[in-house]
Amino acid sequence: MALVFRNTLTRRKEEFKPIAPPEVRLYACGPTVYNYAHIGNFRTFVFGDLLRRYLTYKGYRVNQVMNITDIDDKIIRDSQAEGAPLNEFTRRYTDAFFEDLATLGMEPAERYPRATDEIATMVDMVKTLVASGHAYEVDGNYYYKISSFPAYGKLANLDLEGLKPGARVASDEYEKESVSDFALWKAWTEADGDIFWETEIGKGRPGWHLECSAMSVKYLGATFDIHIGGVDLQFPHHENEIAQSEACTGKTFVNYWLHSEHLIVEGKKMSKSAGNFFTLRDLLERGYTGHQIRYLLLATHYRSQLNFTFDGLDAAAKALARYNEFVDNLTDYPGGESNGTAAEVITSAATAFETSLDDDLNISGGLAAVFDFIRDINRLRSENVLSADERDQALQLITRFDTVLNFREERVAADLSTEVEALIAERTSARKAKDFARADQIRDQLTEMGIVLEDTPQGVKWKLRSSS
Ligand code: AMP
Ligand code: ZN
Repeated sequence: MALVFRNTLTRRKEEFKPIAPPEVRLYACGPTVYNYAHIGNFRTFVFGDLLRRYLTYKGYRVNQVMNITDIDDKIIRDSQAEGAPLNEFTRRYTDAFFEDLATLGMEPAERYPRATDEIATMVDMVKTLVASGHAYEVDGNYYYKISSFPAYGKLANLDLEGLKPGARVASDEYEKESVSDFALWKAWTEADGDIFWETEIGKGRPGWHLECSAMSVKYLGATFDIHIGGVDLQFPHHENEIAQSEACTGKTFVNYWLHSEHLIVEGKKMSKSAGNFFTLRDLLERGYTGHQIRYLLLATHYRSQLNFTFDGLDAAAKALARYNEFVDNLTDYPGGESNGTAAEVITSAATAFETSLDDDLNISGGLAAVFDFIRDINRLRSENVLSADERDQALQLITRFDTVLNFREERVAADLSTEVEALIAERTSARKAKDFARADQIRDQLTEMGIVLEDTPQGVKWKLRSSS
């Protein structure tokens, strides 16, 4: 069956044809590490995870690059306000980001380049753009001349009539009304303090848009298959990436652009600046698990807005539990006398799942197929008309679905649970008695058993370290 994506560039659904199958080269704009990412950010990253997992399910070999933006206006502002050295500041949030990805059961990308490690590539790009007349310098700042690139505006579908030639914008973020020449490189000013690079084009730092052009072309080539990000990045960020990259290489930058819609709260985009955000950690503190949050973020089609509510999260938690109970119960089922209907249930579930996801990652259809399958197999099991062989085939299918969904939570055996609870109680008394050596010893023992402890205001919580 053909896999189809809705391409922002052409505004149509198109059959996906990678440049060099089975490889798929994929670039995802990564986080700006100036704070903990919020669940709106993670909605976009979980969409990227669904995409890469489904491509793998279809037999492709994904080569994904996700950048870490560890230098930009906001990072400078906030690290300085805190008085923290740049590296130390960004390291903290980069580490937190990777922890959060693991909590959400995300498959790692093949590469996570950091902008500050790639300054030389960016400087080379600026030099190339100046030499070819696509960029110019004003007082040590370098700007991209958008009138030099006739295709400017093709992604965001901009009408550039009436544009004031030569108008410039220095900040990285601006609205469509301010479309103008944008900064590739920003000369050092006193406000930047000790944050600068001494380079052939002067003392300063890169603009945000240039970072992604440099890292994507360097690691994925002049032309690659898919570029993703949230809809807010379509303009100006991705428009500017196209202008920079295509002017440098003379080639088409990206064949398929996919943009995911926002996670919203009470009708508004969740964002740090609006203050209406929850970090992943906020929700974990309230007792939700990474898998439950993953379910919520994954279950709405990426091109529809996702309205965040706690009722929605509770519903996701219920659906996740149903999924896992299904696998647990089926695993325990010894098998009965087949009534001959399971084969059809299994085949049609596989087809329905794939047909939906092939259609621009229609996850709602995909999950409907999974839960119809769960209902039908549960019925056959409860009527005892599923053979051991059919049970195994059904388990195989859900395991295959799970390579895409990653909803499976390993069951904790009852005796393991008793042992863990006893050790935790002992650790708590050891800590009360200030016997920290014994408390640490118990923590280590639990770690070895694959148990992760979390101290919460409600007491110690524990879970099995997820295998993914
Ligand atoms: P940032 O760290 O701000 O550069 O954003 C990282 C990613 O999160 C980008 O792809 C953004 O488009 C995306 N993003 C930001 N806010 C939201 C939101 N409320 N819902 C979905 N994605 C978002
Ligand atoms: Zn980017």
